[in-house]
Amino acid sequence: MNIPEVILCKFGEVVLKGANRQNFESALVKELRRRACPYGNFKIYFKQSTVYVEPLDELCDMDGMYEEAKRVFGIVGVNRAAVCEKNMEDIIRVAKEYLPEKLAGKRTFKVDAKRSDKKFPLKSPEISAEIGGVILSFGSRIKVDVHNPEVTVTVEVRDDNAFIRAGQEPGAGGLPIRSAGRGLLLLSGGIDSPVAGCMMAKRGLEIEALHFESFPYTSERAKEKVMTLAEEMCAFCSRIHVHVISLTHIQEEIRDRCEEDYFTILLRIFMMRLAERCAREYKCQALITGESLGQVASQTLAAIAVTDSVVNMPVFRPCIGLDKTEIIKEARHYGTFDTAILPFEDCCTVFTPRHPRTQPKLGDVMRELEKLDVEALLDEAYATLTTETKLVYPEYR
Ligand code: ATP
Ligand code: MG
Repeated sequence: MNIPEVILCKFGEVVLKGANRQNFESALVKELRRRACPYGNFKIYFKQSTVYVEPLDELCDMDGMYEEAKRVFGIVGVNRAAVCEKNMEDIIRVAKEYLPEKLAGKRTFKVDAKRSDKKFPLKSPEISAEIGGVILSFGSRIKVDVHNPEVTVTVEVRDDNAFIRAGQEPGAGGLPIRSAGRGLLLLSGGIDSPVAGCMMAKRGLEIEALHFESFPYTSERAKEKVMTLAEEMCAFCSRIHVHVISLTHIQEEIRDRCEEDYFTILLRIFMMRLAERCAREYKCQALITGESLGQVASQTLAAIAVTDSVVNMPVFRPCIGLDKTEIIKEARHYGTFDTAILPFEDCCTVFTPRHPRTQPKLGDVMRELEKLDVEALLDEAYATLTTETKLVYPEYR
């Protein structure tokens, strides 16, 4: 079949953004252009609330590009459409060639015509009736069902061309990546933090990550696991710089000088302080964690209040109201679950107290903190920072 096809990506909430709309559009088009690199030469542009992804030659991998487009935030629906000239003769010709394969095995359909060019001689219901007749003439057993069709055939008459498509698949939703600023994700090797990162990327944040290791108490393989998670997140987040800081000396100092019950909350204070410093250096305007209220001792309301009080920037915790099964569902959706459940130690599991404080009082915690040379420990830890960059694929820049 030699009917030329394009991929049409429908804007989501982006269309609602009023004066800012252009920024969202250009962020989305830019992102789609970057994501198209490995699939060949495409012309990608925005027109009439839709991003057009047009293959420029035969070598284009349309299947690959189509799957890729489904992982790009800011798009609510993705479909492949046949291109026709803007006259009924050609629309019918294309429908006859293009649709039989698309409708094979389907029992019911309806035709939905959209005419953004009001000068087109036929009105929408007339186009629908005409193409409906063509489909019924295929001789298969397919019937019309306008209320609950198995597949909706859409004929769109737009400015330059007309398009025919059968069905539409959901896109990744949300807002285009980088349209909302940049956030620093505290990325552990667990299930929750990769999900938290993807959820905020979906709201338009570019994601930068910070991982704390505690070598030799945590292993090289535990760090590798985190790098793999970051790489997997790139399927949706595109590019992630992963910073790594060593907490070893801080943890030893806490173990040697502080009361055991406070180990966890003290460690979290150091994490947040270091994360804030990293965020400021790398121009991130918010921190992101995978915390879920009440999940463990460090995630009680009292503990969260303490960790919040030591930083001066917004802390986003998108998993806060989700329970574990819901987070797992998201982890599967974003493709990070299988890696996340590999059993490796995390710095939080090093020197864990037998009875961590679940209702820490800020005053008591600060008294414990005074036993340490906090600023010197922060400087020393921050000096261990190293960075690796993960990309959805090598061509992405
Ligand atoms: P996760 O599944 O994300 O590991 P968790 O349920 O194990 O979360 P905690 O270990 O208490 O919970 O961690 C809470 C949050 O603190 C994590 O979601 C993550 O954002 C951050 N965090 C924990 N450990 C690390 C680490 N080693 N490096 C960076 N951030 C971390
Ligand atoms: Mg964890």
